[in-house]
Amino acid sequence: MGCLVIKNGGAAALPEWKALFARLMPGLEVREWNDPALDPAQVTYALVWKPDPGRLAKMVNLKAILSAAVGVDHITSDPDWPKHVPLIRMGGEEPALQMADYVLWAVLSILRDAATWRVGQQDKVWTRQAGPARMSSEMHVGVMGLGSLGGPVATRLVQAGFRVSGWARHAKTLEGVTCYTGTEGLNDFLQACDTLVCLLPETPETIGMVTYEKLARLRRPAGLINVARGALVVEADLQRALDDGTLHMAVLDVFDAEPLPAASPLWAHPRVLITPHAAAESSRPARAEYVASVIQALEQGRDVPLRYDPVKGY
Ligand code: NDP
Repeated sequence: MGCLVIKNGGAAALPEWKALFARLMPGLEVREWNDPALDPAQVTYALVWKPDPGRLAKMVNLKAILSAAVGVDHITSDPDWPKHVPLIRMGGEEPALQMADYVLWAVLSILRDAATWRVGQQDKVWTRQAGPARMSSEMHVGVMGLGSLGGPVATRLVQAGFRVSGWARHAKTLEGVTCYTGTEGLNDFLQACDTLVCLLPETPETIGMVTYEKLARLRRPAGLINVARGALVVEADLQRALDDGTLHMAVLDVFDAEPLPAASPLWAHPRVLITPHAAAESSRPARAEYVASVIQALEQGRDVPLRYDPVKGY
């Protein structure tokens, strides 16, 4: 079956990875990325998070690269990554369920204006919001990106009683979700929603897609949840929209620079909730199970669903 090299969790995680794969694929040799005795030519599969540039290209017998994350931009940003090798995104049930939980929490935080409570607690001030709370049925959430994560997120929001729209490149049918498609559908999509959930992959087309002008098209009070990648939102535009009230509140999990630098004004902004790129991360057992299923499929010559498409860029 070959040799799987892992760059995820460092040497400390190796015993756990070895134990997991010993159970799932006893014939597979499991090595750590920084093992000094590792011969790159012996590696047939690589499970990686942010691989050092140029290292994958030296693994000349690679049959597949498995991203330890759902996104692959941490691999494709290396101009030398071996593009002839299949690149497979992390999948399985866990990331989608976790993302749906996170986005539901973020949407509820915006619905109940939790940023005001957070500031009140910080200042020890009994801050009651003006007027009664909005109901979930009064909030219209727009999910940008209806893929392996965006689809389940939209469905969970429908189940929780929100009005939900979705936007993707190709036409979609999702129960209870009004779906918009492509550039031609973007304006109508934005104008229908008050809260935008960003779940697009980072590609040349999507970088910088969320601008001040787009945020201004949302209904008020407007909210933004970015759980995709920091680069999709123009940070200066986000700051401006928050400062002038165009955006009432933002929940941000991803940033241009991570960890978010201490000097960023976003940390202290009273209308922002920040989480440390923690929306969805599979457990090691779930990742190992998914990786084993992918290796098995590839060894048997079967296709695997979450394969990176270089033409689409995701
Ligand atoms: P998928 O590739 O499964 O889905 C991407 C979706 O975006 C598809 O619906 C696709 O449309 C749409 N899309 C892509 N490009 C465009 C475009 N130019 N215009 C319109 N729609 C577009 O991605 P996932 O759902 O699996 O993941 C989304 C992102 O979430 C990941 O790339 C990653 O960056 C981020 N992520 C963040 C995590 C966190 O903890 N914060 C954890 C995991 C992932 P179509 O279906 O028509 O092709």
